[in-house]
Amino acid sequence: TVRTRFAPSPTGYLHVGGARTALFSWAFARHFGGTFVLRIEDTDLERSTPEAVQAILDGMNWLGLQHDEGPFYQMKRMDRYSEVLADMLVKGTAYHCYSSPEEVEAMRERQRAAGDKPRYDGTWRPEAGKTLPAIPADRKPVIRFKNPLDGEVSWLDVVKGQITIANRELDDLVIARPDGTPTYNFCVAVDDWDMQITHVIRGDDHVNNTPRQINILNALGATLPHYGHLPMILGADGQKLSKRHGAVSVMDYPLQGYLPEAMLNYLARLGWSHGDDEIFSMEQMCSWFDLNHLSGSAAQFNPEKLAWVNNHYIKAADNQRLADLIKPQMLNDGAQFDNAPPLTAVIALLKERANTTLELGQAAMLFYRQPAADPALMTQHVTEAVLPALRQYAELCKTVEWNKAALSAAMKQTLADFSLKMPQLAMPLRLLLTGQLQTPSIDAVIELFGREVVLQRLSLIAV
Ligand code: GLU
Repeated sequence: TVRTRFAPSPTGYLHVGGARTALFSWAFARHFGGTFVLRIEDTDLERSTPEAVQAILDGMNWLGLQHDEGPFYQMKRMDRYSEVLADMLVKGTAYHCYSSPEEVEAMRERQRAAGDKPRYDGTWRPEAGKTLPAIPADRKPVIRFKNPLDGEVSWLDVVKGQITIANRELDDLVIARPDGTPTYNFCVAVDDWDMQITHVIRGDDHVNNTPRQINILNALGATLPHYGHLPMILGADGQKLSKRHGAVSVMDYPLQGYLPEAMLNYLARLGWSHGDDEIFSMEQMCSWFDLNHLSGSAAQFNPEKLAWVNNHYIKAADNQRLADLIKPQMLNDGAQFDNAPPLTAVIALLKERANTTLELGQAAMLFYRQPAADPALMTQHVTEAVLPALRQYAELCKTVEWNKAALSAAMKQTLADFSLKMPQLAMPLRLLLTGQLQTPSIDAVIELFGREVVLQRLSLIAV
């Protein structure tokens, strides 16, 4: 059975790249009815914070990427790492190294000077028939992994194809520091083993760690997982996605008016494809998701495309849900909901054109604030020439049946009676009713406001 994991380091927010990794791991597990594990890699005490853990959990939660097991915290697994380290020392797959940091640095200097790649020279590496130096007093050893000297590490990466690294390229990695704390690659290997991970899907910034982790897993006698390394996400300028490109924290997106389903759909297409499909649900994604259609080349983050996808999901979203999302922001902007049209009806009228719920809320304000038209615009549009027509239309509004067809018939009649063209009447009406010239269809606006508000706002031009 399939077991995947998402293993973020809590050193910042959940960023777009991390969310995509999580999504792919989650969808792959879902596809096979497998298990999705959340693991918090918090051993970097200087950079890990509880706030960052919370930010990751919040981001996963907003996206609805639910884990089946965890979250596991590496800091809570220290006893287990010590146990494995002790076991490796006994089995001889790891050894104590008493070389001081100065000695290691000096050996690296020598190697660099000789044009060689710096690596541990094996002074403390035990071999059959080899006598090790005398243990220096008062020196705490590190533990090094006894990496194979010959042969190669090779794996069929599900994204990148076959990758082969010669063992002589790999060092005898330090897996525990002098104070006994385990190091990064070791912890990841032990965790993937203990958590019985079958598929490791992660960013290709980890590709260099993989041969080391494979060697450690082999030394532990573990079954190797499959690995897939996702190319990074680039900004529109071809550079690695960063703050310069706008929001990179997933939790900035709800603040900017994006829906989680839009974000997921968009992220899904960053490096994975199902034919030409652009819009699909997470049920569809989970049923279609496979590792064969992951792209080996870097994906480009396109904010316009994300906005387009978001518009699609806003149009599809329930109006009440959208109302709940935009209402706090509107109240903040001073919206007056008394004696005003129902927000869901306004949303139905406006959502077609909204790329974000933020835009939707801003557009909806039209119906929830007192019109304050620019006097210059008023002079320009509410002219002596159209006043009689406006007055007649206002009169008709007192008695007309309140529906779009009747309102529009009243408008047509007025236009005919005064030989005016639509904009000559619609523009001043827009200004009087909303204070602005750009609104949805004037009939729809009038209908939504209702007779009372319309008559009250048109009373300005009464005789
Ligand atoms: N903790 C690593 C990171 O945040 C991921 C490790 C892994 O997926 O193996 O980049």
